Amino acid sequence: MNTHNPSFGRLLILLFLLLVTSGCSSGMTPSSADSDGSTAKSAEEPPGYVLADDTLSNLQLDDPTVPVYDALTIEERRERSLPTRMPALTPFHEGKIAYLTFDDGPDDKNTPAILDILRENHVPATFYVTGQHAQLHPEVLRRIFEEHHAIGNHSFSHNYKTLYASPAAFLSDMQKTDAVIREIIGVRPLILRAPGGVPGHFTASYPPALADAGYSEHDWNVSSADAAPGHPTAQDFIDNIDGQTNQKDFVIILMHCSEGHEETVKALPEILHILKEKGFTFGVITPMTPQP
Ligand SMILES: [Zn+2]
Repeated sequence: MNTHNPSFGRLLILLFLLLVTSGCSSGMTPSSADSDGSTAKSAEEPPGYVLADDTLSNLQLDDPTVPVYDALTIEERRERSLPTRMPALTPFHEGKIAYLTFDDGPDDKNTPAILDILRENHVPATFYVTGQHAQLHPEVLRRIFEEHHAIGNHSFSHNYKTLYASPAAFLSDMQKTDAVIREIIGVRPLILRAPGGVPGHFTASYPPALADAGYSEHDWNVSSADAAPGHPTAQDFIDNIDGQTNQKDFVIILMHCSEGHEETVKALPEILHILKEKGFTFGVITPMTPQP
């Protein structure tokens, strides 16, 4: 009996650890305080994001640096007769805030380099990812999530022809991306950015369809133009952003973090320096972020 005890005990401990860790990584439900008596949920350690409750009633935040996600997909909400439509939220207008957004990633080179720079500077940002890229680089998507940046949906295909054929086609592509993202990080975004932006793409029937699904779309009001033709340089992006951020106290800045955007990585430290000098703090896009 005694000879068996130590290994049996070790086995039990191992099993227990396995249960605890698997519970932690798949659960990720900071808002659902369930009765399993777990003491692992520590009040001192915030999860770094807000998880929408069943009725979407907890999305009016007082902190613009906290990302918001949903544990349920739109189909799951509908199956359970839960609302998908966002309640009326008061846009967050306080102080001087810059929202850095990086589209079209993640890749495995420029996105990690951007994450390193953001970490060194203690700056949160928003990454509008495509489903295709998320599938290719799930570990980078996980890193974005774990470092408490916001992840937004930027379609699966980034194909204008498909996306802008009809609102139904657009939503189907977005929901496909939700599923990919949730598979990797356990939650899905409520925010999205229409590839190429709304003007010239959305017809009048798109906004009501998006509102019904509960998606919160944000374009931008400052562009680095880092995806412009003619091989623009890091200095061009710095000048673009510097020139467009005077006399503004609310900026959503468009940049890209996918393959080929090495110049954006090069420009980022100086961009952060300029914005800080101008007195900006930094936030992440949520459903309460004002429209640019
Ligand atoms: Zn894009």
